[in-house]
Amino acid sequence: MNVHQDGEQQVENNENEVNTVPKFTKLFSRAMDQFRLRVFFLFLERLYIIISMSIILFLLSLKNCGWNDLHYWVLFSSIQAIFSLVLYGQLFHFSNIQSIQQHLAFHYVQIVFVPLNEVTDHPVAPEVFDPTANLSTIELDKKADVMQMQIRQEIVNQSRFCKYNNIFSNVTNQAIFIWTIYYIVATPQESSGEASDCNKWPIIQTYIYGSFLFLQYSQYYLLVALALVMLPFILIYLIIRCFTDRRKKQQALMALNDLQKNKILYKPNILEGEQECSICMQPYQTDDEVLQMPCSTLHHFHNTCISAWLQIQSTCPNCRQQLLPDNQQPLLQQPQQQEEL
Ligand SMILES: [Zn+2]
Ligand SMILES: [Zn+2]
Repeated sequence: MNVHQDGEQQVENNENEVNTVPKFTKLFSRAMDQFRLRVFFLFLERLYIIISMSIILFLLSLKNCGWNDLHYWVLFSSIQAIFSLVLYGQLFHFSNIQSIQQHLAFHYVQIVFVPLNEVTDHPVAPEVFDPTANLSTIELDKKADVMQMQIRQEIVNQSRFCKYNNIFSNVTNQAIFIWTIYYIVATPQESSGEASDCNKWPIIQTYIYGSFLFLQYSQYYLLVALALVMLPFILIYLIIRCFTDRRKKQQALMALNDLQKNKILYKPNILEGEQECSICMQPYQTDDEVLQMPCSTLHHFHNTCISAWLQIQSTCPNCRQQLLPDNQQPLLQQPQQQEEL
């Protein structure tokens, strides 16, 4: 809570000194409104779930239906919904506390100071003072969406109970969702009239709670679904790349072997172009072992330098041309220098 007090202190100081009042930016108030609305709806959803599940459990006991898996689902999901209800209630409560709002606005630099004579009762700054007022509606919505999630994370951390309940609720929500999907996909087709009477309302509840949970986490579920669809393609790509890389490396090593016959002992002006190795940047010394590349008579290197290079790469360091063994070389230029040796 120290941070909030600091925030308030800062506000007061500023007021005293230059007669300004801190106001929220349009972006921040939009994000805050979105967050509150979302949390409020989640709260109502859970309230509905708890009440309807309790009524169903009561009716089931009146009918002497006994306990099957589906009825345990009703019991557990209503107990779990109580924790979520408390969480969303707390989040809504925290988001309405002014000191927390101000702390968050300071944290995300969404406070502007408005001169006293320009101040209105509205918590949002007049547009002339607000740098976020110029954003287009689409940009504003996008940024507010991101900020809303950041706000949620900050507000969750306001109390330890909230923090742990948030983790608990998120995990159990997924468990309940999977359990719910199981019933939706594999609803037991009851033959006897009495049994289906006992399961009718719980089955309807699986659809309702299932769609609540899906909507709440839809963006994450879609991401997971997308990742699962993409996974085989990524794996195939990686395997193919692994094989082609290995083949290229083998070819380069074979090419290096073939190149050994182009090896020359350096004598001044025996080579075309620069009289230095462009891998180690050292000028050639007399009797250095130099390798001439097949791609160009201008591309030549120390034997040791190009051998080390071809351990990790399969191309000419100068022109990046793929090195192929002699029998696969498309246009093999026999260097002239060998005759002079
Ligand atoms: Zn070199
Ligand atoms: Zn080259």
